[in-house]
Amino acid sequence: MKDYAKSPYYETVVDILADVLQLEKEEIEPDSKLLEELGAESVDFLDIINRIEEKTSISLPDVNILKYLSDKYGKELFFEDGKLNNTGTKVIQMAMPEVDASRFHTGLREHEIADFITPLTFVRQIEVYKTLEEWKPEKCNKCGSGNLSKEDKDASEYLEISIDPGPLYKCRECGNLISHKRIEEEIYEKVMAEK
Ligand SMILES: [Zn+2]
Repeated sequence: MKDYAKSPYYETVVDILADVLQLEKEEIEPDSKLLEELGAESVDFLDIINRIEEKTSISLPDVNILKYLSDKYGKELFFEDGKLNNTGTKVIQMAMPEVDASRFHTGLREHEIADFITPLTFVRQIEVYKTLEEWKPEKCNKCGSGNLSKEDKDASEYLEISIDPGPLYKCRECGNLISHKRIEEEIYEKVMAEK
């Protein structure tokens, strides 16, 4: 896995966390647990995310992946009696690569997942969404043409029903609009393909 503590965004995240949580920067380690060790409360997360978005000019997802996928595909696919099942465990392992995979296991309760959020969680998110800004499709997913133009707008601003992140391309041949699939959907597809 990528060493997110070496990311140029690590400092950005530490600065923001120190400010929001009123801590000295030295008190913050890459794998400090926000809730348990840094004293964050749920209300702080919105503030942290807003500041990250302001500072990096990216937009981060407003719900966690299991909430997003549960709303879309049904909660029973990922949870049993409010506890992670096998599929839910695989999703969260893939979604949070900065956490040792063995720490996620079936039986974990939904609210306990937030306990694993560390500074590296935010750094990883920034890196992933920044990389997406550079994304370019090879060809049109409708007609196969490689004759594409980049639209002026972000996919999330342009497509009404879609909240896909990253840039938006238009096929010059058929007019199809092409955006990157949501990260959540990509992970879902990978996990389902392994089943
Ligand atoms: Zn096309």
